[in-house]
Amino acid sequence: MVPSLIQRKRDSGSFEAPEWRAIIDGYVAGRIPDYQLSALLMAVVWRGLSTDELAALTDAMIASGDRLRFEGIGRPVLDKHSTGGVGDKVSLLVAPMVASCGVAVPMMSGRGLGHTGGTLDKLESIPGFRTGLSLREVEAQVGRLGCAMIGQTPEIAPADRKLYALRDVTGTVESIPLIAASIMSKKLAEGLDGLVLDVKTGSGAFLPDLERALELARTMIALGETRGCRTVALLTAMDRPLGRACGNVLEVEEALQGLAGEGPEDLMEVTYALGVEMLLLAGVERDAAAARRCLEETVRSGRALETFGKVIEAQGGDPAVIEDPGILPQADAVEVFRAPLGGTVGAVDPRIIGRAIIELGGGRQTMADPVDPTVGFVITVKPGDRVKAGQPLASVFARDDGGIAAGLDALRRAIVIGEAAHPLPLVSHRVTATGVEAF
Ligand code: URA
Repeated sequence: MVPSLIQRKRDSGSFEAPEWRAIIDGYVAGRIPDYQLSALLMAVVWRGLSTDELAALTDAMIASGDRLRFEGIGRPVLDKHSTGGVGDKVSLLVAPMVASCGVAVPMMSGRGLGHTGGTLDKLESIPGFRTGLSLREVEAQVGRLGCAMIGQTPEIAPADRKLYALRDVTGTVESIPLIAASIMSKKLAEGLDGLVLDVKTGSGAFLPDLERALELARTMIALGETRGCRTVALLTAMDRPLGRACGNVLEVEEALQGLAGEGPEDLMEVTYALGVEMLLLAGVERDAAAARRCLEETVRSGRALETFGKVIEAQGGDPAVIEDPGILPQADAVEVFRAPLGGTVGAVDPRIIGRAIIELGGGRQTMADPVDPTVGFVITVKPGDRVKAGQPLASVFARDDGGIAAGLDALRRAIVIGEAAHPLPLVSHRVTATGVEAF
């Protein structure tokens, strides 16, 4: 049956809902092998899915597992999800901040995908941190602390968990229906009242083009709203890395700085913008200005950092990391990259940086690869900055001299000096069920 389905999709045909259910159930149960699913996914990348097929695929993925249940929790339940970026550690900040404003946040994240990093890999760089909680553990922790930061347990949309890992290594990430089904299946299984989507645009996004990013946003919003979950999206810039740190431990360190009130401006702006949408959707604040004040206060007062510490402790990590990020594992080799010439920084290419992190060992090339949490980059310049020859622009964190050489080479290619800079606005559009507005 599967070869004929692959052929049908290859030739632009479509599947009925029971066929999608059979494919997803067969794959999760191990009856359909990776190689057949890979071929089918590649056909979907090329041929797309109709609206009905996308709904059927998403529902089949949700039905592959169980759901979280938060009845009686007494607080609105919200989450946010990013379509994937480089240096995107917003989840680590926004979950404890929004939870500290009285919203329940069962933040469910994924691993690195393609050239982008994953929140789970970042969290697991905290020694002892357990992302694989059972559904009952998540419900209890969210009830107690207002927040949990988890991966897909085998119980939640296991189909996405398996497909995600397969897509990561088979060149089948960049597809609107596959991204939409992946994100929305796990989010809808969380039993949310509302969801805020961070849809990335620009060269480092899976869908760099603005129109395609808008289409992805609209597609996910339609899936959410028709399934009882109020959904809003912000389009944010991924034509350069977000913040300064790129790489798992380095990003956790930067998130801790952000929660302590010392985060880079661009990272904090995107975090506040998404956090404001979460509070508005949750109905705990009347307007954007009040929501922003509430979030800022969680940082100023230390409550957000304290909440993150409690989450780390509850999930088996060492909460001392809050006071002393130095206890995180550190790279063996560090080297500074200096500007080869003076001028204006025209670009900092996020794809080159993301791919280089994988090459340094900080991401996966095959499904079984272990991840070295310590490697990556801290890049202190942004497009538009004026720099002098010899000025330090970035640092490489690697395992050894080979990694340092590869990292320096990536920085040489990624940081373009001497061209006019045209950075995208950090937050460009707000998309809701009723339409698109410029932000
Ligand atoms: N994030 C997801 O969870 N899935 C995708 O396919 C892309 C980004």
